[in-house]
Amino acid sequence: MNIILTSIDYILNWSRANSLWPLTFATSCCGIEMMQTVASDNDIARFGSEVFRGSPRQADLLICAGTITHKMAPALLRLYQQMAEPKYVIAMGACTCGGGMFADTSYSVVNGIDKIIPVDIFLPMCPPRPEALIDAIRKLQNKIRKESVLKRKDFVNFHTPKLIEMNGILGEKGGSDELA
Ligand code: SF4
Repeated sequence: MNIILTSIDYILNWSRANSLWPLTFATSCCGIEMMQTVASDNDIARFGSEVFRGSPRQADLLICAGTITHKMAPALLRLYQQMAEPKYVIAMGACTCGGGMFADTSYSVVNGIDKIIPVDIFLPMCPPRPEALIDAIRKLQNKIRKESVLKRKDFVNFHTPKLIEMNGILGEKGGSDELA
Protein backbone atom coordinates (compact mmCIF):
# COMPACT_ATOMS: atom_id res chain seq x y z
CA MET A 1 0.00 0.00 0.00
CA ASN A 2 2.83 2.37 0.92
CA ILE A 3 4.50 1.70 -2.41
CA ILE A 4 1.30 2.63 -4.26
CA LEU A 5 0.79 5.81 -2.21
CA THR A 6 4.43 6.82 -2.66
CA SER A 7 4.16 6.34 -6.42
CA ILE A 8 0.94 8.38 -6.59
CA ASP A 9 2.59 11.10 -4.48
CA TYR A 10 5.57 11.11 -6.82
CA ILE A 11 3.46 11.50 -9.98
CA LEU A 12 1.15 14.13 -8.44
CA ASN A 13 4.03 16.12 -7.00
CA TRP A 14 6.04 15.90 -10.22
CA SER A 15 3.13 17.31 -12.23
CA ARG A 16 2.32 19.99 -9.63
CA ALA A 17 5.91 21.13 -9.32
CA ASN A 18 6.34 21.51 -13.07
CA SER A 19 3.11 23.35 -13.78
CA LEU A 20 2.78 26.05 -11.14
CA TRP A 21 0.41 28.70 -12.46
CA PRO A 22 1.00 32.05 -10.71
CA LEU A 23 -1.74 34.54 -9.96
CA THR A 24 -1.16 37.97 -11.52
CA PHE A 25 -0.72 39.89 -8.29
CA ALA A 26 1.67 42.75 -7.60
CA THR A 27 1.19 45.79 -5.41
CA SER A 28 4.37 47.80 -5.89
CA CYS A 29 7.99 47.91 -7.12
CA CYS A 30 8.75 44.18 -6.65
CA GLY A 31 6.06 43.56 -9.23
CA ILE A 32 8.30 45.03 -11.95
CA GLU A 33 10.93 42.37 -11.21
CA MET A 34 8.24 39.68 -11.28
CA MET A 35 7.12 40.89 -14.74
CA GLN A 36 10.73 40.86 -15.89
CA THR A 37 10.94 37.18 -14.91
CA VAL A 38 8.52 36.35 -17.72
CA ALA A 39 10.55 38.20 -20.35
CA SER A 40 12.82 36.31 -22.76
CA ASP A 41 16.04 37.12 -20.85
CA ASN A 42 14.87 35.07 -17.89
CA ASP A 43 12.12 32.97 -19.45
CA ILE A 44 10.21 31.52 -16.53
CA ALA A 45 8.56 29.18 -19.08
CA ARG A 46 11.61 26.92 -18.69
CA PHE A 47 10.15 25.97 -15.30
CA GLY A 48 6.52 25.67 -16.39
CA SER A 49 5.34 28.80 -14.57
CA GLU A 50 4.75 31.26 -17.39
CA VAL A 51 0.96 30.94 -17.34
CA PHE A 52 0.04 33.94 -15.17
CA ARG A 53 -3.68 33.82 -14.52
CA GLY A 54 -6.06 36.72 -14.00
CA SER A 55 -8.41 34.66 -11.83
CA PRO A 56 -7.40 33.13 -8.47
CA ARG A 57 -9.57 30.09 -9.28
CA GLN A 58 -7.18 29.16 -12.09
CA ALA A 59 -3.96 29.77 -10.13
CA ASP A 60 -2.10 27.65 -7.57
CA LEU A 61 0.88 29.92 -6.87
CA LEU A 62 0.59 33.31 -5.20
CA ILE A 63 3.75 35.35 -5.69
CA CYS A 64 3.06 38.25 -3.37
CA ALA A 65 5.20 40.98 -4.94
CA GLY A 66 5.14 44.26 -3.09
CA THR A 67 4.05 46.03 0.04
CA ILE A 68 0.81 44.88 1.66
CA THR A 69 -1.04 47.53 3.62
CA HIS A 70 -3.66 46.79 6.26
CA LYS A 71 -6.26 48.10 3.83
CA MET A 72 -5.07 45.59 1.23
CA ALA A 73 -4.95 42.65 3.67
CA PRO A 74 -8.63 41.56 3.28
CA ALA A 75 -8.21 41.45 -0.50
CA LEU A 76 -5.05 39.35 -0.17
CA LEU A 77 -6.81 36.90 2.14
CA ARG A 78 -9.83 36.67 -0.16
CA LEU A 79 -7.66 36.01 -3.22
CA TYR A 80 -5.75 33.30 -1.32
CA GLN A 81 -8.96 31.61 -0.24
CA GLN A 82 -10.30 31.61 -3.78
CA MET A 83 -7.22 29.89 -5.24
CA ALA A 84 -7.24 26.25 -6.30
CA GLU A 85 -5.96 23.61 -3.85
CA PRO A 86 -3.20 22.70 -3.27
CA LYS A 87 -1.90 26.27 -3.34
CA TYR A 88 1.50 27.71 -2.61
CA VAL A 89 2.81 31.13 -1.61
CA ILE A 90 6.09 32.92 -2.28
CA ALA A 91 6.59 36.14 -0.29
CA MET A 92 8.66 38.27 -2.68
CA GLY A 93 10.60 41.22 -1.31
CA ALA A 94 11.60 42.59 2.07
CA CYS A 95 8.30 44.48 2.42
CA THR A 96 6.25 41.35 1.91
CA CYS A 97 8.44 39.21 4.17
CA GLY A 98 8.61 41.56 7.15
CA GLY A 99 7.53 45.11 6.30
CA GLY A 100 10.95 46.07 4.87
CA MET A 101 11.84 49.74 5.19
CA PHE A 102 8.30 50.44 6.42
CA ALA A 103 8.47 47.99 9.34
CA ASP A 104 9.25 50.61 12.00
CA THR A 105 8.19 53.77 10.23
CA SER A 106 4.74 53.18 8.84
CA TYR A 107 1.45 52.52 10.61
CA SER A 108 -0.18 51.21 7.46
CA VAL A 109 2.08 48.36 6.30
CA VAL A 110 1.61 44.73 7.37
CA ASN A 111 4.90 43.48 8.83
CA GLY A 112 4.97 40.17 6.99
CA ILE A 113 2.19 38.47 5.04
CA ASP A 114 2.69 35.29 7.08
CA LYS A 115 0.48 37.08 9.63
CA ILE A 116 -2.36 36.74 7.10
CA ILE A 117 -1.71 33.65 4.96
CA PRO A 118 0.68 30.65 5.13
CA VAL A 119 3.95 31.24 3.27
CA ASP A 120 6.00 28.44 1.67
CA ILE A 121 9.06 30.42 0.56
CA PHE A 122 10.36 33.75 1.87
CA LEU A 123 12.37 35.75 -0.66
CA PRO A 124 13.72 38.91 0.97
CA MET A 125 15.86 41.63 -0.70
CA CYS A 126 14.78 45.00 -2.05
CA PRO A 127 13.91 44.14 -4.72
CA PRO A 128 14.80 40.50 -5.48
CA ARG A 129 16.11 40.19 -9.04
CA PRO A 130 14.37 37.87 -11.53
CA GLU A 131 17.13 35.28 -11.01
CA ALA A 132 16.30 35.25 -7.30
CA LEU A 133 12.60 34.72 -8.03
CA ILE A 134 13.47 31.84 -10.35
CA ASP A 135 15.62 30.38 -7.56
CA ALA A 136 12.66 30.70 -5.16
CA ILE A 137 10.40 28.91 -7.65
CA ARG A 138 12.95 26.11 -7.99
CA LYS A 139 13.17 25.81 -4.21
CA LEU A 140 9.39 25.61 -4.07
CA GLN A 141 9.45 22.94 -6.79
CA ASN A 142 11.92 20.90 -4.71
CA LYS A 143 9.71 21.31 -1.66
CA ILE A 144 6.64 20.13 -3.60
CA ARG A 145 8.51 17.12 -5.02
CA LYS A 146 9.44 15.96 -1.52
CA GLU A 147 6.05 16.63 0.01
CA SER A 148 3.48 13.91 0.55
CA VAL A 149 -0.21 14.64 0.08
CA LEU A 150 -0.76 13.92 3.79
CA LYS A 151 2.02 16.31 4.84
CA ARG A 152 0.46 19.06 2.76
CA LYS A 153 -2.81 18.42 4.57
CA ASP A 154 -0.96 18.83 7.90
CA PHE A 155 0.52 22.12 6.67
CA VAL A 156 -2.93 23.39 5.69
CA ASN A 157 -4.53 22.17 8.94
CA PHE A 158 -1.78 23.86 10.96
CA HIS A 159 -2.59 27.22 9.38
CA THR A 160 -6.38 26.87 9.23
CA PRO A 161 -7.09 28.27 12.76
CA LYS A 162 -5.06 31.38 11.87
CA LEU A 163 -6.94 31.75 8.58
CA ILE A 164 -10.29 31.53 10.37
CA GLU A 165 -9.10 34.08 12.94
CA MET A 166 -7.84 36.46 10.23
CA ASN A 167 -11.06 35.96 8.33
CA GLY A 168 -12.96 37.16 11.39
CA ILE A 169 -10.68 40.10 12.09
CA LEU A 170 -10.37 41.26 8.49
CA GLY A 171 -14.00 40.43 7.70
CA GLU A 172 -15.09 43.06 10.22
CA LYS A 173 -13.09 45.59 8.23
CA GLY A 174 -14.91 44.81 5.02
CA GLY A 175 -12.93 41.77 3.89
CA SER A 176 -14.05 38.26 3.08
CA ASP A 177 -16.71 36.89 5.37
CA GLU A 178 -16.60 33.34 4.07
CA LEU A 179 -13.99 30.64 3.97
CA ALA A 180 -13.41 29.06 0.58
S1 SF4 B 1 11.04 45.21 -1.09
FE1 SF4 B 1 11.83 47.08 -2.07
S2 SF4 B 1 11.33 46.83 -4.23
FE2 SF4 B 1 10.04 45.39 -3.08
S3 SF4 B 1 8.11 46.47 -2.69
FE3 SF4 B 1 9.46 46.81 -0.93
S4 SF4 B 1 10.48 48.76 -1.39
FE4 SF4 B 1 9.64 47.98 -3.32
